[in-house]
Amino acid sequence: MDGLNKSIYEIGSDTAFSILARSNDLISQGKNVINLGIGQPDFPTPPNIIEAASKSLKDGYHGYTSSSGIIELREAVSNFYASNYSDIRVDPNQILITPGAKAVIFYTLLMFGQPGSEVIIPDPGFIAYKSMVDYTGAKAVSLPHRMENDFSFDADELLSLITPRTKLIIFNSPGNPTGGVVPEVEFKKLVAGLAKHPNVFILSDEIYDRMIFGNKKHISLLSYPEIREQVILLNGWSKTYSMTGWRLGYGIYPKSIYPYAEKLAINCHSCVNVVSQFAGIEALNGTQRYVKKMIQEFQKRKDFVVKKLNEINNIECVDPGGAFYVFPRVRKDGFSSKDISKHLLENYYIATVPGSSFGSHGEGFIRISYASSIKNLDRACNLLAKFMSD
Ligand code: PMP
Repeated sequence: MDGLNKSIYEIGSDTAFSILARSNDLISQGKNVINLGIGQPDFPTPPNIIEAASKSLKDGYHGYTSSSGIIELREAVSNFYASNYSDIRVDPNQILITPGAKAVIFYTLLMFGQPGSEVIIPDPGFIAYKSMVDYTGAKAVSLPHRMENDFSFDADELLSLITPRTKLIIFNSPGNPTGGVVPEVEFKKLVAGLAKHPNVFILSDEIYDRMIFGNKKHISLLSYPEIREQVILLNGWSKTYSMTGWRLGYGIYPKSIYPYAEKLAINCHSCVNVVSQFAGIEALNGTQRYVKKMIQEFQKRKDFVVKKLNEINNIECVDPGGAFYVFPRVRKDGFSSKDISKHLLENYYIATVPGSSFGSHGEGFIRISYASSIKNLDRACNLLAKFMSD
């Protein structure tokens, strides 16, 4: 349709959601689809969280809350950082509770993106980054995350991409779609280099901070006082607490820009639904045993699927440090990554996401979310092996 605001024609979509829709179509036709496409844990929300939510309704919490989020929730977030990081202190007044962490991406790009400005984004990277940069009219500049580098980035390469037009850099470690974790040495080099660019802001997407395996360690960009006034941190409950449908996330903003984020919140979502906010308090303050169990299970599945995939001819799979995705390189003559994903879904009933939908550096790869049982993963890998040898 013509005649709309011209920026709306630039906005992209999230391939994982269109694949989910197609998988559901196939399921309704009676096909037995294994869904390794969508990025959501296959565990229920822990029962103590559900209990706290239902209690809040019974206790009469049915109205608007402050648009920044109820103070007990912001304090719970602040306490999370104080108890998990010796060097991070967060003022609850710098925390904005949002309807899902995705809203933090949207609001941040509304603040920094405009024609003439540049935003550096991971490639391959979470699809919403590029869609939203394109929507604002800014230029998305790709920062390659290569398989040879365990899907981390090279700080010198990143610093070389900064120009006088660079307004924002987006990071995501552990990363979607690759599971890559940026090592501390790279962050240190980066932080030293960024001291020369005090006007460049950083959106650090740390939504997979707790999903980290083996000897890998999550480094939060809030740990570096030198750049603290430049960092917007994104996090939320969707992945850690299996709460994707509750729509609950947060942004931690430097004091200088917090009021603008809050105004966007007031004008857009007013406040996050109060039931989810009470659930979020219990998630952070209550038992963490369900989270620990889920992460142990993810680690088991990751080890299983990486081994299985590497046994298949023409597939190479890095053992990722975090998140719940693997991002294997899949070579089949005449097939792009889009063709491979399509073929796997339509003919073998396995949903995956083509690597190219996450950026040009994702071509040749597919994203597999291992948020599915070992039995399903085993069957999917066997079918993938069949597809590769056909
Ligand atoms: N960032 C990344 C890297 C993600 O993978 C996702 C969810 N797929 C989000 C942000 C958004 O999460 P939420 O459900 O809280 O909006």
